[in-house]
Amino acid sequence: MSTDAAAPVAVVGAGVIGACTALRLAREGRRVVLVDRLDPGEGCSFGNAGAISPAAVVPMALPGMLRKVPGWLRDPDGPLVVRPGYALRAAPWLARWVLASRRSAVQRSSDALAALNRDTLDGYRDLLDADQFADLIRVAGHLYAFRSRPAAAGGRLAQALRERHGVRTRWLDAGELRALEPALAPAYACGLLLPDNGQTVNPQRLVLTLAGNLAACGGRVLRDEVRHVEVRGGRLELVAAGGRVPASAVVLATGAWSRALLRALGTDVPLETERGYHLMLEDASVTPGRPTMLADRKFFATPMEHGLRLAGTVEFAGLDAPADWRRAQALLRHAQAAFPALRASRWTQWLGHRPSLPDSVPVIDRLPQAGVFVAAGHGHLGMSGGPGTARLVADLVAGRRPFVDPAPYRHDRFGLRGAPRVPATPAHEARPLGR
Ligand SMILES: Cc1cc2nc3c(=O)[nH]c(=O)nc-3n(C[C@H](O)[C@H](O)[C@H](O)COP(=O)(O)OP(=O)(O)OC[C@H]3O[C@@H](n4cnc5c(N)ncnc54)[C@H](O)[C@@H]3O)c2cc1C
Repeated sequence: MSTDAAAPVAVVGAGVIGACTALRLAREGRRVVLVDRLDPGEGCSFGNAGAISPAAVVPMALPGMLRKVPGWLRDPDGPLVVRPGYALRAAPWLARWVLASRRSAVQRSSDALAALNRDTLDGYRDLLDADQFADLIRVAGHLYAFRSRPAAAGGRLAQALRERHGVRTRWLDAGELRALEPALAPAYACGLLLPDNGQTVNPQRLVLTLAGNLAACGGRVLRDEVRHVEVRGGRLELVAAGGRVPASAVVLATGAWSRALLRALGTDVPLETERGYHLMLEDASVTPGRPTMLADRKFFATPMEHGLRLAGTVEFAGLDAPADWRRAQALLRHAQAAFPALRASRWTQWLGHRPSLPDSVPVIDRLPQAGVFVAAGHGHLGMSGGPGTARLVADLVAGRRPFVDPAPYRHDRFGLRGAPRVPATPAHEARPLGR
């Protein structure tokens, strides 16, 4: 660990992962500074679908999915697009994603996700006070609406994984589906209810509340852009646009932007951004009773405190390409096909950058440099993964036995060059950074 024990633990990235982690560390009595170039909750955690799922045990890549991909790619409004100019860049990640869809790999990822996410709601109960929890989080289940009962290998495996992890599910026939969600079009003939799942009514406000709780227990929120982490003589410093921030430990929770910071530290992970869009309908004429996943279109319609949010789908185009707002607009057309009575005249649109690893399992680990940790790559499941990640990071920082087996979350599991595994205890000098 760094010699500068009087310095705070610096958590970089004030999304849901960094905010949960910083608060957890502060609750354990550590001095903490949470650093972000934006205000808390303005990255990917701002505009997601808000689903919080103890049942998040199904990775994204499943057997048989590869067969569906060409059809998706032919549809410019479909669930998955790869911008032509980005196809070569995305190819290595997509190849790993295909490998991750093998049954044995899916099983491994599922176990890792289950261990991290199963107590997510209790985790939020710990991090929020009772009034905040009641105000921000609802537990009314999730509904998956299908045109026909999923019969392919992937669908069957998904159900088997839920059963393996004791997730309660209820399959609904057309009549039961209509009874639960009368506004759904008759084309949706089958439903899957996950009754124990929850949602936040406002992901950004959830993160802001976590950051507020951090401040209330003595932590500091600092707005600054971190250029790199410097490790010199066992001392850690953030080198930021606004100056240097000494730290006793550093946690990189920088979401989709983590790869460059990690590479500068000699570590590489196959982190890619799966871009997603939302359309926030302020005056929707239809509001489902709970987050409802339109399974054929791969997006959620989630009731939120400020309207109905349509959020999801995947676009590969990197971190810097401008938004393609046609994809956000398409969400409304698809939602109107699913909810024929849906009308709206006021909306806002948003593009977010999911931090995604091919096997759907985040990297939560210590780096070779003593005192430097990473918590990134939560993909489609960061709102669910926040509390569990915070617990695991706190265990790693404290050097105590982790509450879950940490092996599945290791940064070197992909075997990329530049990610040597060295014993974590001795101080380890990083090579010069970013120069
Ligand atoms: C359309 C869509 C729908 C989704 N729906 C759901 C859902 O329903 N449920 C769910 O669980 N997940 C969902 N997700 C995924 C979820 O939003 C992400 O997994 C989660 O927000 C990731 O959190 P994070 O804290 O890792 O990243 P972020 O929220 O992006 O936070 C990272 C932060 O790091 C900061 N940062 C980066 N680099 C630097 C730097 N150098 N210096 C300073 N600050 C820096 C950024 O400004 C940012 O604030 C969805 C995502 C999308 C796009």
